[in-house]
This record gives sequence, C-alpha cells and structure tokens, in this order.
Amino acid sequence: MSAGPVKNVVIAGGGTAGWVCAAALIKQFGALISVTLVESDEIGTVGVGESTIPTARTFHDLLGIYEKPFMQAAQATFKLGISFENWARDGDSYFHPFGTVGRGNWMGDFHHFWLKARDAGATEPFGAYSLEQQAAMQNRFATGGQPALSYAYHLDATRYAKFLRSLAEPAGVRRIEGKIRTVVLDPESGDIDALELESGTRIDGDLFIDCTGFRALLIGQTLGVAFDDWGQWIATDRALAVQTESVGPPVPYTRAIAHGEGWRWRIPLQTRTGNGLVYASDFLSDDEACARLLRDIEGTPLFEPRPIRYATGMRAAPWTRNCIALGLAGGFIEPLESTSIHLIQVAVTRLIQAFPFAGMSEAVTARFNAQAVREWEHVRDFIILHYKLTERDDTPFWRRCRDMPIPDSLAERLALFRDAAQAYQGGEDLFRVDSWVSVMLGQRLEPRAWHQLARLVPPEELSRALGDLRHLIGERVASTPMHEAFLKEFCPALESA
Ligand SMILES: Cc1cc2nc3c(=O)[nH]c(=O)nc-3n(C[C@H](O)[C@H](O)[C@H](O)COP(=O)(O)OP(=O)(O)OC[C@H]3O[C@@H](n4cnc5c(N)ncnc54)[C@H](O)[C@@H]3O)c2cc1C
Repeated sequence: MSAGPVKNVVIAGGGTAGWVCAAALIKQFGALISVTLVESDEIGTVGVGESTIPTARTFHDLLGIYEKPFMQAAQATFKLGISFENWARDGDSYFHPFGTVGRGNWMGDFHHFWLKARDAGATEPFGAYSLEQQAAMQNRFATGGQPALSYAYHLDATRYAKFLRSLAEPAGVRRIEGKIRTVVLDPESGDIDALELESGTRIDGDLFIDCTGFRALLIGQTLGVAFDDWGQWIATDRALAVQTESVGPPVPYTRAIAHGEGWRWRIPLQTRTGNGLVYASDFLSDDEACARLLRDIEGTPLFEPRPIRYATGMRAAPWTRNCIALGLAGGFIEPLESTSIHLIQVAVTRLIQAFPFAGMSEAVTARFNAQAVREWEHVRDFIILHYKLTERDDTPFWRRCRDMPIPDSLAERLALFRDAAQAYQGGEDLFRVDSWVSVMLGQRLEPRAWHQLARLVPPEELSRALGDLRHLIGERVASTPMHEAFLKEFCPALESA
C-alpha cells in the first residue's frame, strides 16, 4: 500500500458525518494535518438523525464540547431511553432505558433476582428498578444529583452540523462550497488523488473521507466497494419525515410506535417535534404511508412529509485504499435504537487511534474494517430482535417478521435467554446486558429458568432489598425537576442558532 505519509485529509460531505469527523480530526491533530471539507448547499443533507445515545456525551468530552452551548444551539432536549409501543402485541408498551437496571450482585445479573421475586409473586415490572425509566415516566430530568442519570440528547440535526462547523472552522478546517463532479483516481495505484468540483477547482489529498450520504460518491460510485444488504432481516426500506409544532412539554424519551407495516418515531425538541414513519414498501404504498403519518401525528406539520428511501446494510470494507466511508455513505441501519450517529462517532474515534500518519497499512485497514463489521452486526442483531420477537399476526408484514430466519449470532442470544435467562455484552458490543434484557422481556421472551444462585438470597431479604431499591429510586425521582423546567433554566434554545 501507499508509502506516502498522510498530511492532507479531504472530507467529502458536510452533514453530521462530515462535520463530526472534521471537528474531531482538527481538535486532535490540528498541528499535524490539514483538513478540508467540501459540501454542496445545493444538494443539502439528509436532515434527519435527531435521537442519540449516551455515548454522544463521551464523544463531546473528547471534543471539549460544553453541554450548555451545545444544547442551546441544537435546540436539544434530554433523552433517558425509548418507549416502544405496539411491538410485541398491538396495545403493549415497554421502555428501553439507559443506565443500569437494579443493582448488580457478584452472584449474577440483577434480572435473575428479579425473575426469582416474580416467580414468588412480586408484581413490579423490571423497569420499576430503572431510575432513568421512572424519571422518564414522570417527565423529570436534571443533570447532577446522585445517583446520576444516564442520558443522551434529542437534537436538531441541521443545527448540530452547524454547531460542529462553528467549532471546526475557527480551529482550522478549510470549508469549500461546491459540487463534486469527478473523483480523480491515480491511474497506476487506483487510489484517490483528488476531487474535482463543477467550478473546476481541484482538491488534492492523501486521505479521503466519504461523507456524501446515501450517494456514497467515493466508496460506492467510484471505488465500487460492495454493499452487504441486510434487507432480508430488516424489511423496512422507506421513511417519511415531518416536523410538527410542539403540543405539550417535551418528554425526555423517544417514542417508537409500531404500526401495521413498520413504526413511527416521535422526537421532542425544545421548539418543535420530529416525526417520521418508517415502513416496508413491499407492504405499504407511499400514499398510504403519508396518509397514515399525517393521521397519527400530533401538532400542525411545519412542511410536507419528506420521503427518504434506503437500503439496510453496510459497505463490506468501509476503509478501502485511501478512502474511509462514514455515516450514510458507509451504510445504514434504521433509527429504531438511534445508533447511526454513534456509529459515526465511534468510527472517527477509531480513526484517530489508528491514524495512518506514516502511510496506508493493510494491517491497520483490515483491523479497522473488522471492528466496524463486528459493531454494525451487533447493532443489526439488536434491531432484528425487535421485529423477530413479535407476537403480532395482524398484518402480512408482522407475520413475515415473526417467521423470518435470523442470523445465527442472534439465534444464539435468544436461545441463551430463553433457556437460562443469560445475556451478555461482548468486547465491542454497544448494547449492555440490561439493554438486551429490557428488550427481550419487553418483547415477551420468557426465560424458562433463572440462575439458581439467586436462591441463596432468602425471599424476605430479596423482597426487602427490592423494596429499598424502589424507595431509593422513588425519592430520587421525586426530588428531580420537571424536564421542561430544567431545560428553560439550564439551556433554553437559541432561536437564531
Ligand atoms: C429516516 C432516518 C432517520 C434517522 N434517524 C436517526 C436518529 O434518530 N439517530 C441517529 O443517530 N441517526 C439517525 N439517522 C441517521 C443520520 O441521519 C445520519 O447518520 C447522519 O445524519 C449522517 O448523515 P451523513 O452526514 O452521512 O449524510 P448527509 O446528511 O446526507 O450529508 C451528505 C453530505 O454530502 C454532500 N454531498 C453529497 N454529494 C455531494 C457532491 N457531489 N458534491 C458535494 N457535496 C456532496 C451533501 O451536500 C451533504 O453535505 C437517520 C437516518 C434516516 C434516513
């Protein structure tokens, strides 16, 4: 591979992926490399991607981003988890909270003790032991306090990209407005040499980051890197997005409401609400989807619903030659668990750790790609879980989901939980044991047994410990301000941001 040192980084695309990457690279390596970003106002961005997970906070720490100005600029609200409605059965609901559920014990995960108590007649749901879930259900939120809440953000995607730009440009990122016409390859090596814009400007570089969204101009259209399609497991392939006026105080959680052929999101920001309908075009027409979305949203739409088509899957090798694909150019898994921005941020972090200052290395590239595949497959399995474990048979779509074959990696997890209530988080896995357990129980997967070590705790002692835990959570929640009041006090949205 190329022996030349890497000094000039060119980022193609200025959506969330492009600006996340630009801001992080300049912050970490400003004195060592030059970073140029090309974006086209005429093409614009995908304009969605508003719900995050707690890892966003770690990434912001890396960038030295203060929470208050970020929240104000992105008109953001806080998020404690996701409410899943109508998934296992029409009329059901469960919550996937951030943070820890219950209290661990050296003998085993909390859910074994909860299962034992339930077998003995206790009726409190698993989520009764989640501080985040209880706070969310009462619409309460504050930073600080003990025990601390684990949280993420709902943000305005366009304003977020602008905010990152406002950090990256003064730090040294050179932004060029223009449409890329040609990706110029070195005739001998096949590596990317430069981007040529419609204006005739040529931008040379050593490393190219493809953040051109679904177009995948560099990694797909030019280098022809294969796309591994996962549509056989995740049948949804279209979305309609629309913003509405707020109709009440913003809740500190995302809602994912299943319908006959997919699901609908509801993401509350400080100044408006983001809504969207995700659906499978094999089962629902675009017109029906639009009518359903407009029928079900609350609040006046601020514009016509915007259609988005997508394929689920990822590039077989997101780092190929001197090009790395980030964001939608690298792949897409629908936003049911709000994982896409996380996958961008974690890839950028890995790029920083493995930055090829001395030149491209096949070993470094191979490891980067192997880690990406493992991460993406893990997220994919977690999403499939929600569809596969449905008991709904009211539409052909849900019957297909229920009856479809699933990847072996997921089948193994389901068997472990069904047989022995076991769940685990592997080395590069995003989702923790509590996440798997919350969703598997929420989707009505009932374990046949729990770990017998839980028997070692006498029933009265267990009952007392669980009661104490609920009391502690109750007190903590009661002393937490209402979410809306905290937003107004701490980080009121800047209208002009
Ligand atoms: C329906 C839907 C809902 C989603 N919800 C969530 C969510 O809740 N949470 C989450 O984490 N993620 C979500 N995502 C994913 C999230 O939107 C993306 O991961 C994120 O916005 C990154 O997008 P991007 O920057 O890769 O692409 P884009 O935003 O599409 O940006 C592409 C950039 O490339 C530029 N460009 C393209 N072609 C050219 C050219 N020829 N010349 C110059 N510039 C060019 C464009 O101008 C633009 O700046 C969602 C995605 C979809 C489709």
